[in-house]
Amino acid sequence: MNAPVPAPGKPRHWRPTPLVGGAAAVHAGALAALAVSPATWPWAAGGVIASHLALTAAGLWPRSTLLGHNWTTLPASASARIAITIDDGPDPEVTPRVLDLLDAHRARATFFCIGERARRHPRIVEAIVARGHAVENHSQRHRHNFSLLGPGGLRREIEAAQSTLGEIAGTRPLFFRAPAGLRNPFLEPVLCGLGLHLASWTRRGFDTRTGHAALVARRLLHGLAARDILLVHDGHAARDANGAPVVLAALDTVLRAAAGRELETVTLRGAIAPMLR
Ligand SMILES: [Zn+2]
Repeated sequence: MNAPVPAPGKPRHWRPTPLVGGAAAVHAGALAALAVSPATWPWAAGGVIASHLALTAAGLWPRSTLLGHNWTTLPASASARIAITIDDGPDPEVTPRVLDLLDAHRARATFFCIGERARRHPRIVEAIVARGHAVENHSQRHRHNFSLLGPGGLRREIEAAQSTLGEIAGTRPLFFRAPAGLRNPFLEPVLCGLGLHLASWTRRGFDTRTGHAALVARRLLHGLAARDILLVHDGHAARDANGAPVVLAALDTVLRAAAGRELETVTLRGAIAPMLR
């Protein structure tokens, strides 16, 4: 998305998207119609159900912007750079090896960490930052029912991770990524209040499910272009036939290919740094 957006880090005013505003209008209209003419209830109910289906569909589509602003690619100012984003860590076995791999390629990455895991492995979070990478918010517990939480539940999950990660990493996250990328319409107002921006991805490797590093790399490299945001995992990493986390070989292939195409890596916060001035 290239439209100017407020810099992350500061609370911002929430404005509903046309879909969210339209759904709210349908609800209000249905109530008004029922008050005036109860016989219209089938139309009112139909409208409300249709609007819920539309909101649910938008929330199940991780790259959708129908529920609010969503970084699916880097801003135009990132020019010939891509972002590697690494979710679900820190993991005591995989993350240190990912860090060594990134060092070997002189690459920078953005780690979307889970607060509870960061609390268990604070030294790894410190190492991520010390080695030039960024730590961002992937919720406190990575609950599987995250997208079913109401505004209070969403806020608690995200705020707890802001505190945990901010305390350990020394800098509060600027970006949030929803567990499994699933959302509901209450998320964006919560993110606005906390000054967080939602980040998804351009393409992902499905490296928590696929045990073949070459296939994971192929998915990530298919159509690879400047400003792409790639998603892999250090937590919940699938293993290959030899028991090795597929993310290691896949990321190695991706970073070699990126270098061959003269694409540099940048953290998400590094990519939006010009907007923070
Ligand atoms: Zn995740």
